[in-house]
This record gives sequence, C-alpha cells and structure tokens, in this order.
Amino acid sequence: MKYHIITFGCQMNISDSERISAVLELMNYSLTKDINEADLIVINMCSVRQSAVDRVYGLYSKFKRLKKRNKKLKIIVTGCILKPDKIKLKAFADFVLDKRDLYQWPELFKKNLKIKKNYLSITPKYENNFIANVPISFGCSNFCTYCAVPYTRGKLVSRNYKDILKEVNELVKKGYKEIWLLGENVNDYHYNEIDFSQLIKEINKIKGDFWLRFTSPHPKDFSSNLIKTLVKSKHITPYINLPIQSGDNEVLKAMNRPYTVNQYIKLAKALRSAFKAQKQENLAISTDIIVGFPGETEAQFKNTIKAMKLAKFDMAYISQYSPRPESLCYKKMQDNIPKKIKKQRDKELNEVLKKTALANNKKFKGKIVDVLVLEKNNEYLLGKTRQYKTIKFKGSENLIGKFVKVKITNIRAFGFDGELVKDKLIVILGPTASGKTDLAIKLAKKFNGELVSADSRTVFKEMNIGTSKPKYPHYLIDIVSLKDDFNVALYKEKAIEAINEIVEKGKITILVGGTGLYIKAIVDNLDFPKVKPDLKMRNELESKTKEELFSMYEKLDKEGSKIIDKNNKRRLIRAIEVCLQTGKPFPRLKQEPLFDVIQIGIKKTKKELEESITKRTNQMIKQGLEKEAKKLISKYPNNPNLNTIGYQEWKQDKSKEKIKKDIISNTIKFAKRQMTWFKKENIKWIKNQKQAEKKIKKLILKKE
Ligand code: SF4
Repeated sequence: MKYHIITFGCQMNISDSERISAVLELMNYSLTKDINEADLIVINMCSVRQSAVDRVYGLYSKFKRLKKRNKKLKIIVTGCILKPDKIKLKAFADFVLDKRDLYQWPELFKKNLKIKKNYLSITPKYENNFIANVPISFGCSNFCTYCAVPYTRGKLVSRNYKDILKEVNELVKKGYKEIWLLGENVNDYHYNEIDFSQLIKEINKIKGDFWLRFTSPHPKDFSSNLIKTLVKSKHITPYINLPIQSGDNEVLKAMNRPYTVNQYIKLAKALRSAFKAQKQENLAISTDIIVGFPGETEAQFKNTIKAMKLAKFDMAYISQYSPRPESLCYKKMQDNIPKKIKKQRDKELNEVLKKTALANNKKFKGKIVDVLVLEKNNEYLLGKTRQYKTIKFKGSENLIGKFVKVKITNIRAFGFDGELVKDKLIVILGPTASGKTDLAIKLAKKFNGELVSADSRTVFKEMNIGTSKPKYPHYLIDIVSLKDDFNVALYKEKAIEAINEIVEKGKITILVGGTGLYIKAIVDNLDFPKVKPDLKMRNELESKTKEELFSMYEKLDKEGSKIIDKNNKRRLIRAIEVCLQTGKPFPRLKQEPLFDVIQIGIKKTKKELEESITKRTNQMIKQGLEKEAKKLISKYPNNPNLNTIGYQEWKQDKSKEKIKKDIISNTIKFAKRQMTWFKKENIKWIKNQKQAEKKIKKLILKKE
C-alpha cells in the first residue's frame, strides 16, 4: 500500500508531515512521489492565506478521477483547517482529521498500533538528511487580529525540553548540519522553569558542528537576556526572522501587536550591534509584512516604508491582506483596501527591500564565508550562508549536505555568486620503494597532518609483508578482506570521507601511495561510470590471459592502459567491461577538482631505485614473505588480488633465489611503468625533505 502526501504552508507543516509519514510507515504504507499510484493521499493544509485553501479545493476533480480508477483510495485532510472548511472538505475527503490525534489514525485503518499520545513525541521520518525541523511548541496564544493560527492550532503548548534536547542530540549524532527550532511564537517557549533562552543554553552544550536557527519569534518576547544568550551561543547563526507586520503604530494596535515601531527598530538595532560586538558578524534580519490591512491609509503605509528603510531588512515576506474566517478582523473589520492598491503597496515595499538588501550584501564582497551546500542545479551548487543568504558556485555534487568555504565574487540583492575555497591536499608519490611513506610520515609530524593511503594493495587485510605495509597510522589501510570486491570508485568514496574527517579535526591531509589511478581519482575528481557487471561478458573475458586482456584494453583505451596494473586480471576485465558498455575510455570523466592539491614526487635515479628495490625485497624475504604468500595462496586459491608482485611469483615451481630475482625484476618493471605515468602529471619533483617542506609551506600560505 502506498501513500502520497501534499504539504501546504510553513516549516511547521513540513515538520508535521514528517511525523505523519512516520506513523503511516508504521502502518505499513510506503511513500510514493506519484499521486496516481497512491492508495492513501494525505493533504496537510494551511489556512494562513485563502489562496492555499483554494488550491486544496482545486484538487477536487483530480481526486474524483483518481477514486474512480482506484476504488480503495482514501483521502485524509489534516493540518490547519478553519471550522467552515472542515464541513466543506468532507465532500471529497474520507477523513478530516486533527494531526494532534495522530496516535488514533491507525485505528481508523484497523491497525493495532501503539503510537505515542503526545503528537510531538512521535519520531519523525525526516525528509532531509542534513537539515531538520524540530518543533518546540504548538499553537499560539497571541491572537493577532488578522491571524487564524490560534483557532486552527489552538493556544501555545510547549514541548518538554528533555524531548527537544534528546531529538537535537540524536540529529547531531546522525550528522545533521542545520537544525531549526520551530514554533508559531518560538520565543514564547516555556516549559516549567525552562524558557527559550534557557533552552538555547542547553542546546549549546551539545557537542558537534551544526547550525541552530529558529522561527518565528515575536518581537515582544526578545528580552535582553535572550539577546545575550543568542550571541553567546556558538551554534546560533546570525539570521533572525523578526516579523514587523506594519510600520505604523495605529495599524500595529489594530493588529494586536503589542509593540511600537520605535521599540521594534530599537530591538533590531540592539540585535545587530550585539551580534557585531560578540560574534563579529553582520546579523541578517528578515521580516513579515502585511499590506492593505483593513483601513490602512496611504499615510500609514508610508510609515511602513519609513520603518523598512530604518530597519534595513535583508529579506521581507510581504503579503497582501486576506481575511481569515474566525479571526477578529474577519468578524469585525471590513476588507476595504482594493486589490489594486494592495498590489501597488506590495510592489513599492519590494523596491525598498531590494535597495536595503543590496546595501547589506555589499559588506560581503570578497569575503570568504561558511556555506551549507543544499543542492545542485545544473552545473552550480546552491547553498546558504550563516546569514541565510543564497549563494551559487561551481562544485561537485558530493559536497551537498556539507559545510564549505566560499569566496564571494558577485553581489545581488537576494544572493551571491562565489567560488569554492577548497581544502588543501598534499600528495606524496613516487615509484615503488622510493621512500614516499617515510617522507610522508615526517611531513605529517611537521605540519600537523594525517595520512591517507593511496595503495591498491594495502587496503587488503593479511597482505602485510609483500605490500611493505606501514606501521604508522594511515587511513584506508586494512579496510577490506581479500574476499571482498574492492574498486577505485569505492576507494574514492572512502578516501573523501577520510579527508573530510581529517579536515574537520583542523588538520591537513597527506595522501601517500603509488597507485596512479587511486591518486588520479582524488586529484582529478574522476567520476566513475555506474556500469553494472555483465556476467556473460565477464565469463568470456575470464577465459583470456592477462596479456590478451591487456592488448584488448590497450586498443580500447590507450591512455588508461598506461596506468592500469597489467597483472591485475580483475581490473583489466572491469576496465574492458566499462569501455565496451559505455563506448568511452575508462575513466576519463574529469570533474571540477574537490581539493587544492600539490603533488610532490620523489626523484630517484634508476640506479638508486634498483638498489632500494633490491634492498627492500631482501628485507621482505627475511621478514617471512614466502610464508605469508604461500599461506594466502592456499587460503584464497585463484584470488585475483594475489596476482600481484610479491605474491604471484610464489605460485611457480622455482627456487627461492629465482623467485627473489623475479620479484626484483617485476618490481623494477612496475616502477618504470609508474614513472611513465607520473611524467604526464603535474608533479613537483623533490630530492629531499627540505625541498618538500618548502613546497608545502607555499601551498599552506597561498593567498585565497
Ligand atoms: S503571533 Fe500572531 S501572527 Fe503569529 S501565529 Fe500567533 S497570532 Fe498568528
């Protein structure tokens, strides 16, 4: 059975839908994005504006059609519904339900389920995996005369702060980056002795890298104590939605908004200077404004323009007044401002807003700002800054849901363009036995770095002596068993995870290894084609020798054949499979680089290299390479990962001395192939540690 959910209105409603989804899934319904497939449709309504209500009625004929096609289809309407609508909606809905009674929904469908009675205690099915809405209260007791919320949601009820802290804690543990505390009057939160300020202080104790935002506060509930708490909280971001609604004192009074314009402007200024003084950040303020409130004169409207100029808003959500049934305005006041004038006033305020927003944004030109990446739109990533401003910049999709640094290059009234400031990455490479691991360890100690291995053999457990596995801690060593399938795409995913972890610790990453393709995957951000294995093709290729496979691959992908390990049959088969299925060389799909990289290569003469290869082979044999290789060969017969230098040679019936010679000569040939590939890359060649340090210092100090 499938359900489809349509959500209208604010963040609170989105959050409610997440709780509804959670209950429906417990009832064994699964979500469908296609309304035509649904057996159950839930409409989570909003009554703030008549247009949203009309859109629900507009669905009537569609539902009729769907019900004809699917006789079992049921429709639930829930959310903020005014009394008169509740009656009318019954004409096409099977159930008009209160979401606060969510625990009773299963019963209606004859499901015996125990759901928590307190609707806010139900664990939601979060729609997004890095931004979460956490309701802290429900309803509102303010009774602004134009508003229907106190009638649709009831008076304000605050949620137990322990439940809120538990939810936030769990979200942070799961890696959520932005948490919104929600409430119709969020800063009127009171649960026993805990008020909103105290709640923020408690959340502030939660460790983790996340942004805390809240909406919607009421100006009357901003005590100086709360301002102090906000600016001291490391998680609170410099963005506040502060609804002014009108810039005229008489209109405010008629709206039952208990503040004057002066008090509002004073509050906005106090908030801005507190953020500047304590956090050294510009606070962005957005607002809500109603134009065409009953009786709003031209002079009163002009006062709103004045107030807008004084408040210097970054954003304003302007709405043209529409009477809401049940509200005091609806009952007692006449909607006497013509539509045309409302539209005109809306337009005029937008013009003022554009100017103030642009002036505010100019302060950011050239700055490097923290951004949470939200989505990719064509070739651009879209994100939000701490000030909740939209920023557009080029970057890779795998940054979605992450914090990045972006340099602002262009200013608009409602957003920025920017350039991604990439994390720095040091790559130490060189042919086998050139001493790259030793150098990387020394550099890691010197520059507060951590090491990530780029070696296709040390990823495997049990292959120790033959791979010269380093003892010093590296990420991506011993991560898979010889039985496991491992490939470059998996390597890339894990390496990026490791690099991000190191960056989050405030350290620099040193990628060290000699597997060209692994290094290239990270440096050039290669995108690997998602090609499914073709078993028939694989069986045919399996019957060929390594040499036959290599010459076949060479014809398909000349460049790729220069860097592939020609002794690795499995990799050759995979590469051929991808080439044949995609018709493209494997892999040539370079993307926008993820990191600001310096590649440092160790320069060795042929003689030096041959000497160190011989020395290392002798050492490995002394350490017991024969025993290790033979043990693995008998434990994993025919394992393609053992068709590699140091292991494959022991499969032959030759003397130990001959095998040693074979290992040395195979390693020398391999080192030569590595050097052929390295020559084509942008590598800074060095002879000693001092030269490497100089290059790294340059990279670290490089001006953004
Ligand atoms: S504060 Fe006023 S506008 Fe906001 S939800 Fe409450 S009654 Fe409605």
